[in-house]
Amino acid sequence: MALEDAHGRLLGDLRVSVTDRCNFRCQYCMPAEGMPWIERLVRLFVALGVRDVRLTGGEPLVRREFPALVGRLAAIDGLRDLSLTTNGYLLARDAEALVAAGIQRVNVSIDSLARGRFFEITRRDALAQVLAGLEAIAAFPQVRPVKVNAVPMPGFGAEEVARFCELARSRSFQVRFIEFMPLDGDRSWRPADVLSGTAVRALVEAEHPLRELPREPHSTARVYAFADGEGEIGFVNPVTEPFCADCNRIRLTADGKLRTCLFSQHETDLRGPLREGATDEELERVVREAVWRKELKHRISEPGFRPPARTMSAIGG
Ligand code: SAM
Ligand code: SF4
Repeated sequence: MALEDAHGRLLGDLRVSVTDRCNFRCQYCMPAEGMPWIERLVRLFVALGVRDVRLTGGEPLVRREFPALVGRLAAIDGLRDLSLTTNGYLLARDAEALVAAGIQRVNVSIDSLARGRFFEITRRDALAQVLAGLEAIAAFPQVRPVKVNAVPMPGFGAEEVARFCELARSRSFQVRFIEFMPLDGDRSWRPADVLSGTAVRALVEAEHPLRELPREPHSTARVYAFADGEGEIGFVNPVTEPFCADCNRIRLTADGKLRTCLFSQHETDLRGPLREGATDEELERVVREAVWRKELKHRISEPGFRPPARTMSAIGG
């Protein structure tokens, strides 16, 4: 029987944070062991109806033998989609190995296409290397779509929008703008820092008319095609347009905790029971109970909102 919560939602999408380490220090995010347990838990989740697994972190590519982990997960029967979110810094090095191991889709996070601003945001002067990584993965036609994720931080304006539109249009990437959420390591998030998807869309449409594409089930993004050419632009608006009602996601942290919402105040330890020799049946019971209590929605815009104790890089974005 599939995993279900008390609100009637079926859970089919698992995010696995394979490490909480990262080689970047993105302002809005940051303040190796375990391959066998990750594989065992992913296998269990797939047996319970999870079909889509995204590997994230921290930065997945800093994990030793990450392509080998991808290979082991790709071999799990019943898994439909195995994808990766990366900052792209090591992607030129690893693209070939990841494709050989069976990665199907890759999202590369790039918050600015201007070298100086990229440096300011990520605290690394690495735009050229990240773009080389993006090219390296895009060279494999079996990895599609390639998405570029950008969090528009204060200072993001028409010039930056123009650069991202150019990237989307020239190379058929799907560029997605993600609203800044209160999950930053420095706890400096303020509602006023959120540049809404609507505001960014207005900037895009001032130059390029867009045509909305049909929404895929459980998709967090509203996706648009350029009315006059190739390329797609998506908007993920968790703050201004929450999509909780349709959320089918659960998350596994790099230290083996199950989280049923990005903003959960509570998490369920799976690695402890695993180490103590729990059977699959015992783990299944723990997972079902946790999933049943999945939060109805996040409460970012409600009075008394408390961000979770862990930040994005520790949760797995
Ligand atoms: N290191 C990888 C990367 O940067 O893509 C994977 C982990 S990162 C936590 C995953 C995604 O979460 C990135 O696209 C990043 O931009 C996004 N992210 C991190 N902190 C965020 C925040 N406070 N609000 C919105 N998105 C955030
Ligand atoms: Fe690292 Fe990704 Fe967080 Fe940036 S967003 S600090 S690249 S985990």
